[in-house]
Amino acid sequence: MALSARNNPRVIEPRLAPRFQAMLRTLPLPGGEPRTNERAEALLADAVEWKASDIHIEPGAEETRIRLRMDGLVHDVAAVPHASGAQLVAFFKTLSGIDATALAHPEHGHARLDVAGARLELRTTVAPTVDGEMVGVRLLDTSRPVRALDELGIAEADQKRLQAWPAMRTGLLVVCGPVGAGKTTTLYSLLHQLQSLPSSIVTVEDPVERRLDGITQIEVNSRRGLNFPEAIRAMLRMDPDFLLVGEIRDPASAQVAVTAAATGLAVLSTLHARDAVGAVAALRNQGLKNWEIGDALEMCMAQRLVRRLCLQCRTSAAPDDVEGAWFQAAGRVPPSLLWHPVGCDACAGTGFDSRIGLFELWHLDEIARQLILDGADGAALEKQAWRQGMVTLADDAMAKVTAGVISLSEVRALGGISHSAAGRKE
Ligand SMILES: [Zn+2]
Repeated sequence: MALSARNNPRVIEPRLAPRFQAMLRTLPLPGGEPRTNERAEALLADAVEWKASDIHIEPGAEETRIRLRMDGLVHDVAAVPHASGAQLVAFFKTLSGIDATALAHPEHGHARLDVAGARLELRTTVAPTVDGEMVGVRLLDTSRPVRALDELGIAEADQKRLQAWPAMRTGLLVVCGPVGAGKTTTLYSLLHQLQSLPSSIVTVEDPVERRLDGITQIEVNSRRGLNFPEAIRAMLRMDPDFLLVGEIRDPASAQVAVTAAATGLAVLSTLHARDAVGAVAALRNQGLKNWEIGDALEMCMAQRLVRRLCLQCRTSAAPDDVEGAWFQAAGRVPPSLLWHPVGCDACAGTGFDSRIGLFELWHLDEIARQLILDGADGAALEKQAWRQGMVTLADDAMAKVTAGVISLSEVRALGGISHSAAGRKE
């Protein structure tokens, strides 16, 4: 898998895995047996402390790299000899219920365990590579509370619109963005605010990432023949008030979700689309008719995740020529100060502290609905959204840059959204 350096800068940072590195320095047990279990437990504890989303054990030509993914970026924390790496791989395979023998094909496994006060769910994938088996472990900390809507970084006016949505009890709300943009987190936050309502809430997910109290959740299982459309139809027979569909990714589930939303049910879902108005094209691509989309669609939200600057060490400076030129090209006035990451002990030298969302929320009005019925293209829909005063992803990014919450470099690394800033000039 080729990863560009820009998307995946490699940082070797000893502060990220102090327990694991200390274990690497301890002597083997009497008899020469390495302390594999203790090493793995130390690595898990390090991962929990830094809220890492994944552990990677990747054999290379020379050695095996141990890496943690934090805030979307992979950090190298250690390199060990192949034999030690293979022992760690074996540990995670056994823990996750994967056959301990050498694999011919990638395998998946699960495990649940408590580490350093966290209740972890592990989703393990093992794949044979030319240099040996590599392991990717996705860590879900189910003891962490679901984030409230006001913790995600959504502008206050948009939060109010989202909070008003459940009262309508009808229509489709979609969250758009690429993979890893935090769409599922937003859906769970939206569900969380519904939990207090006296209503019936059902979800169809692949997989269920969080168990939510008082909500009926069903997991799609293609191996056992339970697909999205079938699961949605089954849940609709439960007579719910709210339905969450993890993702609209095929014409059949698009059809059932949209029909449900048009016939008096509130439906939440996610779509793979660049921006809020892009939801319309994405639904058309799933074979839906303009009148079906116009009838059902209520709100489209788009989002990205960017790293939040560490407040302990961030530093500010007046924009330089390159930065000034960037703002000019985007048709915006640069702020007097821009903030930059530095790195300190509090952030393990990364300069960042967790991530925050960039959001845009398009609440369709009658004009927008008519445009969809008339088959209007993305550009026409975008103009309508601007006319309605939608705060765009680029607007939201600039507000957060100006406030010193994020750095301009994070926004520039996103690429796509700077265009919408430039496009808005006319
Ligand atoms: Zn810091």
